Amino acid sequence: MPLRKAQAPNPNFIQCKGCKKTLFVADFEANLRVCPNCDHHHRLTWQQRVEVTFDINSFTELDADLYSGDPLQFPEYEEKYLQAQTKSGMKDSLVTGTGTIDGQLISAAIADFHFMGGSMGSVNGEKVARALERGVELQCPVVIFCASGGARMQEGLLSLMQMAKTTAAVDKCRQNGIPYIAVFTDPTMAGVLASYASIADVILAEPKALIGFAGARVSAQAQVLKIPDDFQTAEFVLRSGMLDRIVHRKEMKATLGNLCSILGHRLTAGAKS
Ligand SMILES: [Zn+2]
Repeated sequence: MPLRKAQAPNPNFIQCKGCKKTLFVADFEANLRVCPNCDHHHRLTWQQRVEVTFDINSFTELDADLYSGDPLQFPEYEEKYLQAQTKSGMKDSLVTGTGTIDGQLISAAIADFHFMGGSMGSVNGEKVARALERGVELQCPVVIFCASGGARMQEGLLSLMQMAKTTAAVDKCRQNGIPYIAVFTDPTMAGVLASYASIADVILAEPKALIGFAGARVSAQAQVLKIPDDFQTAEFVLRSGMLDRIVHRKEMKATLGNLCSILGHRLTAGAKS
């Protein structure tokens, strides 16, 4: 008896990860990958993030050739790294460059969770530091889209060192009056949250993004307090005073444009003509 052929998924439809409803791909894409039914903000690749945030054709990628070695000869790291590169077309988990939002020059870093969970190894940290320093060089605001499970364990202490390096780069921006805005997207966790992400001048987040240090299971083990149902969501973190604002994806570009215009009005590159 012939085996029944597995049915290929219909490319015109997609299932929402929030409400599980079947959606038309065309409607879903037109709605910036936000579910029109339950408003679930699906994760974006870095290219999709550029498309929904920056002025058309204004983004130029920089430091694109940096990639990690395998300094600790960590078991299977090299294979996993190469697989992630082949699958994503990225060299590492974060892309940096310059672009304009509403005509204003921005130095940007965009993490992509699809590459090894957006983990911060030596390349990710180096690129974040360079993006921040580029803001100082170009006298323009810095915007970083965070998406990460934390530091990359396969690079051990070298990953943890990125926390200090990126924090020092944020301080350099501060000393030079360069505005730095962080956008927490789903998820922004652990070593990234505990370093450059949470010390931005303005911190925005997408609705329902997971934000925290240790995961909910680890936190529950502490058993100090009863964990609320919305623990580590953007809404919970906003109530705790750690976020400035939750911004819907449709409003993100305009919000960043406004903030950069207000905070960067004294900068040469931030001023419109
Ligand atoms: Zn939905």
